[in-house]
Amino acid sequence: MGNITLALAGNPNTGKTSLFNLLTGSSQHVGNWPGVTVERKEGHFSYEGMNFTLVDLPGIYSLGAASIDEQVASEFLIKEKPELAITVVDASNLERSLYLVVQMLEAGQPLIIALNMADVAENKGIRIHREKLEKALGVPVVPTVARERKGLEDLVKRVKDRFENGVSLSLLAIPYGEKVEQSLDRIAKNVSSALLREANIDRRLASIKIAEGDPLIISMLEKLGEAKEVTAIVEEENERLELELGYDLLTAVIERRWNFISAITQKVAERNLSLKKNLSPSDKIDRIVTHKIWGLPIFLIITWFMFRFTYAVGDPIADYLDGTISALGERIAFLMETAGFPLFAGSFVADGVIGGVGSIVVFFPHIMVLFAFIAILEDSGYMARGAFVMDRIMRAMGLHGKSFIPMLMGFGCNVPSIMATRVLERPRDRMITLLVLPFMSCSARLPVYLLFAGIFFGNHAGTIVFSLYVLGIAIAVISAKVLGSTLFKGESSQFVMELPPYHLPQAGSVLKSAWERASLFLKKAGTVIFGAVIIVWVMASLPLGVEYGSHESIVGRIGDMLAPLFAPAGFGFWQAGVALFFGFFAKEIVVGTLGTLLAGGEAGLASALPALFSPLSAYAFLVMTLLYVPCIAAVAAFKRETNSWKWTFFMIAYTTLIAYGAAVIVYQGGQLLLGLS
Ligand code: GDP
Ligand code: MG
Repeated sequence: MGNITLALAGNPNTGKTSLFNLLTGSSQHVGNWPGVTVERKEGHFSYEGMNFTLVDLPGIYSLGAASIDEQVASEFLIKEKPELAITVVDASNLERSLYLVVQMLEAGQPLIIALNMADVAENKGIRIHREKLEKALGVPVVPTVARERKGLEDLVKRVKDRFENGVSLSLLAIPYGEKVEQSLDRIAKNVSSALLREANIDRRLASIKIAEGDPLIISMLEKLGEAKEVTAIVEEENERLELELGYDLLTAVIERRWNFISAITQKVAERNLSLKKNLSPSDKIDRIVTHKIWGLPIFLIITWFMFRFTYAVGDPIADYLDGTISALGERIAFLMETAGFPLFAGSFVADGVIGGVGSIVVFFPHIMVLFAFIAILEDSGYMARGAFVMDRIMRAMGLHGKSFIPMLMGFGCNVPSIMATRVLERPRDRMITLLVLPFMSCSARLPVYLLFAGIFFGNHAGTIVFSLYVLGIAIAVISAKVLGSTLFKGESSQFVMELPPYHLPQAGSVLKSAWERASLFLKKAGTVIFGAVIIVWVMASLPLGVEYGSHESIVGRIGDMLAPLFAPAGFGFWQAGVALFFGFFAKEIVVGTLGTLLAGGEAGLASALPALFSPLSAYAFLVMTLLYVPCIAAVAAFKRETNSWKWTFFMIAYTTLIAYGAAVIVYQGGQLLLGLS
């Protein structure tokens, strides 16, 4: 019998080379792929009278041309048409591995799956039902552990079987949905038979490749002089889909493919800690803290305690700091007055700088304590368990578990967390996550809570702050569910997250991490917030001659315009309107503004605020601050990541409406309850 060419394909680090070495032994030939410096390994082996040539392809995640490796591998498959490919799949990372498999099947490449790393999967408590996977994809699946030379015999036997029974070309047709199919059909109708002959593919595959912008097909189109016409059609279809689905053809194709893969993964893979062998002490702890029922309450109790602790330690230090800062302000104002400075200069220092920036800086101790606590949770490895517990909820709500990583980062600052949504491969997951991220309570909102909770809720301050964080998560999760079943329909995927081993947190690294974050807070107070507070102070002093911070000043007029709007939420007075208005620039400025407007003179915020707010309206105000449009930097990041004004405006309107609705419900509902009791 002649020589049969087999390709060895798969993601990087799935064990291709290990399998290659085991199969071919010493009969290897190493060279380079033509024109590039990517290593090409070729080897031979025989089995029961059949001779095979095995080519080890570079590791890739998809068949495209994003990298030289992808180009080399795709061209080999298209041009040399290996009679069979052994596609190595990482069993511990099934979902990601399947993307390439699905693409190869769509391209009509006959293949057999080596389900490698079966040992790693087992250690993670992942079980993959081989027969179900075979049925779902219509290809043979052979479990292997290349490192232990397990499953090789089976693999070779199945390869031989395929040839004895004839390799059937089982084309996989992914359901792309009516709207996308329409586009694909239209493109298919418009490609010439010359192209199909040249590329040696059928119409449907040609249309998919064109939708994907496959460079090989595009260059063929150019050679045949059809590129312009086809590109115009793709552009038109992009526009139509943008309107109907919210994304372009390429995105829709990728999206639907992941949908298809997620549905398969959910059917064939199961993750269960109790499947794990050899439980270590860390596994035993995990059994409790990631328990189906107890995991969430444990997570909540720990975070609740964190906020209680923050107040218990932060309060006395902040009190001391507060006293020192206001005494300093008064002293400086007094000195300036006696030194003959004009009155406004003294007001600038006392009201603007000390009142505004000082009112934020006093929360530095709280922030430091909170971040130290979070650093301890992260360092010890518990935070990853929290994410794991939340993952179950995320999935129940139709979100990818990985969404929780950016959401967790959102507690720090929404801006990097918006960028972190790049870890989500699927546009649908990414869009939903982006839209709900602003509800995660970033640390800039914390000073607002700390201020109000401390003044209005005394001993229960920690619980109140905790409740706001929980509310933010709850609204995010519910919104995700709603968005996922309306605007962005689809399957969610499974999440397999590494749980790092536990270890004792190091005092040094905890303090360093807390200091790094807390000092960012101080830096922001000294720059952005300082600048904003000056603007507020100026606008509160103008036009010339008005009483500082009065109704007649510019801020007073802005506030007056907004005030009636907020009356149903219980804070229909102008200072609240102004604070929320400026809070758009950075949420800490809500405190800075109130400080600048109210804290001047003897009356500190602690005595000024209770004259305006009741505990109930204070809480409604906090709910508003939590949920309404994120700061301008986050909005800019959102625009950059989505590259869409439409979605950016949608996000602004959506968050603000929800915030307003929630604040009104809290206030009106609270009134009702208070009236009843
Ligand atoms: P390639 O990038 O796909 O060629 O992967 P390699 O063959 O270079 O393997 C990557 C790493 O995974 C190496 O350290 C291998 O020893 C290891 N490896 C390969 N197969 C298995 C397996 O089945 N189980 C385990 N635990 N490790 C494996
Ligand atoms: Mg390799």
